Amino acid sequence: MLRIQNINSYYGLAHVLKNVSLHINRGETVTLIGANGAGKTTLLRSISGLQAIRGGKVFLEGKEITQVPVEKKVRMGIAQVPEGRQIFWPMTVFENLEMGGFLVYKMHGRRQLIATIEEMFDVFPVLRNRRKQYAGSLSGGEQQMLAIAMALMLRPRLLLLDEPSMGLAPLIVREIFQILDRLKKENDLTVLLVEQNARVALNFADRGYVMETGRIILEDSASALLANQEVKRAYLGRD
Ligand code: ATP
Repeated sequence: MLRIQNINSYYGLAHVLKNVSLHINRGETVTLIGANGAGKTTLLRSISGLQAIRGGKVFLEGKEITQVPVEKKVRMGIAQVPEGRQIFWPMTVFENLEMGGFLVYKMHGRRQLIATIEEMFDVFPVLRNRRKQYAGSLSGGEQQMLAIAMALMLRPRLLLLDEPSMGLAPLIVREIFQILDRLKKENDLTVLLVEQNARVALNFADRGYVMETGRIILEDSASALLANQEVKRAYLGRD
């Protein structure tokens, strides 16, 4: 579904992505693991169009999308859940979902927008109960669910998830991944997941890539990476 060939990316003079190549098959969940600053977020942003790519190519279902602007990529079915739960704090849960569904409104009108919000409430019932609550007053887990629901409003085919477990209690992390698992099965969703929590990520994913200082240094099935001694030592801690 997605193929990246030798992409490079810079912040000023800093060369942050160095000839990165990867692919994601349709319906697959692929995870990127790596230490802080390895370039994982930059790679997600390069795919979604938030970060400029200099050199290299990105293909979505065989079509080159390297320099396609963000809004067009969204229309093509790529949605990103940014790191740090970037929701609108002074707005209610419902209003946040309206914002997330702006393109639904633009393309299909108000009725479809409301129907899509109701679907999100079916997926995340806790959000239905809090529809009138300000997003800033939600718990961390609820905020993450809202951030994911906002991206899902666009009915993406490819979901780019940046650190969904960040700062959340293990029980909440488990709940979020259970919901994601169900969503994947029901919606033919392909996922690229960035995680610091490598164990959670590899348990959820089919395959994984390990990044180190802007390069991919290892690629394998999630189960092989979980068993890999180097990965264990560097990213999984002790059992
Ligand atoms: P983390 O898990 O900490 O988010 P990461 O693997 O996602 O790390 P990136 O956020 O992609 O890493 O950062 C890669 C490198 O680029 C780091 O050295 C970082 O300091 C640098 N960087 C990230 N964003 C910017 C920016 N806006 N301007 C300049 N340098 C940046």
